[in-house]
Amino acid sequence: MGRRKKIVQECERLMDTPENIRNIAIAAHVDHGKTTLSDNLLAGAGMISEGTAGEQLAMDTKEDEQERGITIDAANVSMTHEYEDTNHLINLIDTPGHVDFGGDVTRAMRAVDGALVVVDAVEGAMPQTETVLRQALREGVKPTLFINKVDRLISELQEGEEEMQERLLGVIADVNELIRGMIEEMDDIDDDWTVSVEDGTVGFGSALYKWGVSMPSMQRTGMDFGDIIELEQNDKRDELHERTPLSDVVLDMVCEHFPNPVDAQPRRVPRIWRGDAESELAEDMRLVNEDGEVVFMVTDISMDPHAGEIATGRVFSGTLEKGQDLFVSGTAGKNRIQSVGLFMGSEREEVNRVPAGNIASVTGLRDAIAGSTVSSVDMTPFESIEHISEPVITKS
Ligand code: GDP
Repeated sequence: MGRRKKIVQECERLMDTPENIRNIAIAAHVDHGKTTLSDNLLAGAGMISEGTAGEQLAMDTKEDEQERGITIDAANVSMTHEYEDTNHLINLIDTPGHVDFGGDVTRAMRAVDGALVVVDAVEGAMPQTETVLRQALREGVKPTLFINKVDRLISELQEGEEEMQERLLGVIADVNELIRGMIEEMDDIDDDWTVSVEDGTVGFGSALYKWGVSMPSMQRTGMDFGDIIELEQNDKRDELHERTPLSDVVLDMVCEHFPNPVDAQPRRVPRIWRGDAESELAEDMRLVNEDGEVVFMVTDISMDPHAGEIATGRVFSGTLEKGQDLFVSGTAGKNRIQSVGLFMGSEREEVNRVPAGNIASVTGLRDAIAGSTVSSVDMTPFESIEHISEPVITKS
């Protein structure tokens, strides 16, 4: 059996254990390294070869290897990662980097429970950093921070340990100030969603050279900033990557600090759905009940040359299966699901079913648009998604 097939099978096995699922987005100001970091995660999870990560990717997971050179430009991908002896299913949704796509970023946030915000260590927090943070918090999505391009502080700016730490703490303080301000504005988030080195919600590193660190990883590997500076200065980046690989550090952070659907849905559902909170349907969504009525929120429609229109989104309740006739909000009649699948990079893999708590891609929903609520019973649709794109704020 090929590697890709094995990964798909493992994803299918893990889909039924929502406690071990993390639905995440990576978001950043343009050029801060979102794409390069995503590639690293795919490589770390075995989806693409290590060598090509960071070089605008070649897929090498196809069994015949004929498809090398395909660029993953919309990396919606499901991958697995072992954390504390348990395999986790991580569904990563791509968010467009450009500010004009603010609406798409917000839609992507509806499907996930955690957002890894990438900030360039040299540039610091920029306007789009603020925009993506606001989009995440409005959707009840928890942020963590990855400070990227730390290699540049060492090799280009020749910063010493103290100077570098000061700069990194400055970036964290700026991001936390943004988060605090937004939480105050919203006044319905009780959690302290600021990030900190000590609790492990901040990582640092270089997506380009594939190394990363966090407080827990430094404790595990025994490496400190002094070691990192020395290796980076001496051009021993391969050794840095081997001793503290970026993908492990980031995926560990994802598993440890982002909520699973069972923890996230009870908090998120009341924010995004104004239907009867006492109903069975509300209960099914809060409990991520895979045996409940089907509730699927479409966050993206894409075109596939073979399969046609594909609707991607989050299954909040029930289980999506081929042949189901489902209501599509705002339209009359029902649509029949033709196929159910997962995204593995640019390729879609058909599976038999996708239960609650996961991100699915389906065909057959000809009347659905991004933002549609698709369900097995006639129901109050989800709240429309507010499009935040600086500086204008409009409503869909
Ligand atoms: P995106 O727009 O956020 O997706 O950013 P990209 O991943 O496309 O990266 C933008 C540019 O920054 C590219 O030229 C990358 O090679 C470069 N880059 C990304 N990560 C790093 C890093 O850690 N260190 C350095 N020096 N350059 C990086």
